Amino acid sequence: MATIGQSPPPWKLVSPEDWNDWRWQLRHRLHGAEALFSFLEERGIHANTSALSEAISRYRFSAVPYYLSLVNWADPDDPVRRQCIPDSRERVDVLDLSADPFKEVASRQTPGVVHRFSDRVLLLATTDCAVYCRHCTRKNTLDEALCAAGPRFDAAIDYIEGRTEVREVLISGGDPLLLPTPQLDALLGRLLAIPHVEVLRIGTRVPVVLPMRVNVELVAMLRRHRPLWINTQFNHPRELTQTALAACSSLTEAGIPVSNQSVLLKGINDRVSVMRELCAELQRNLIRPYYVFQCDPIRGISHFRTEPSVGGALERELRAGLGGLCLPRFVADVPGAPGKTPLT
Ligand code: SF4
Repeated sequence: MATIGQSPPPWKLVSPEDWNDWRWQLRHRLHGAEALFSFLEERGIHANTSALSEAISRYRFSAVPYYLSLVNWADPDDPVRRQCIPDSRERVDVLDLSADPFKEVASRQTPGVVHRFSDRVLLLATTDCAVYCRHCTRKNTLDEALCAAGPRFDAAIDYIEGRTEVREVLISGGDPLLLPTPQLDALLGRLLAIPHVEVLRIGTRVPVVLPMRVNVELVAMLRRHRPLWINTQFNHPRELTQTALAACSSLTEAGIPVSNQSVLLKGINDRVSVMRELCAELQRNLIRPYYVFQCDPIRGISHFRTEPSVGGALERELRAGLGGLCLPRFVADVPGAPGKTPLT
């Protein structure tokens, strides 16, 4: 299970028991503009408060202490900081970028169910996240009314029961591993009880941003619902802490494969040395480097997007030095395309 790490400064007065309690982490999330400004001020960082307030009024902001503790505050371009702290550039509306280019909202047959490919559905189970990633592909569409939370689970299950061509359900959100364990247990059980549903997949950043959530109780529950695959998203080697790796290894030891789907982020992981270290470390820890996604053409994240040629060049350079099991596929989701498009 996830290793017990010491609470770092400025949380050094927090007991290790609290620090390693995922509920404590969630209760102490940094949330909203005022809390962020005080937090930055304590670190001697003077923010453009009106620009950041505007960004936060458009896009949710929360971050748990664990993930914030990984930031090097002396570096304004720190790769962890850029993923979790709002940026004034989020307000820039680039004309050809849309809030929902993949028409996920229009493709929801029932609240929380997106059925774009015949054999699989996407089930959006919550809008809650331990950290609202600044590059999130759903940052414009995280809406309670559009997800299958609470009483709407019944309608989502009914829809999937009625579609016998569906053999795989990808549960995402928000972050499904933030659901209370009994609620997630019931959801997974109901899905696997549908005769034509063969495989479950969970998309989650919990192993990266809140690895203490992967505790004994959660792993024991998840292993009862195999075949179950976990897809997570490490974007930089700095996120591969002992606690994060222990969380992943407790899943793989329970027979739950963990795959990684990075997002290619300008200034964060668009250099071959960073990507090579990330992929090698993932493979060494039995986490499959599966995909690297071109950052989606979504409003509010244009400052993270690289040219498509960057991903293609990175893949070619990595191929020269890494074996196949260590080499992710560099792809893009292109609006209107039937599947993933290789960047090479
Ligand atoms: S955890 Fe996932 S859904 Fe939540 S903000 Fe990050 S990328 Fe988006």
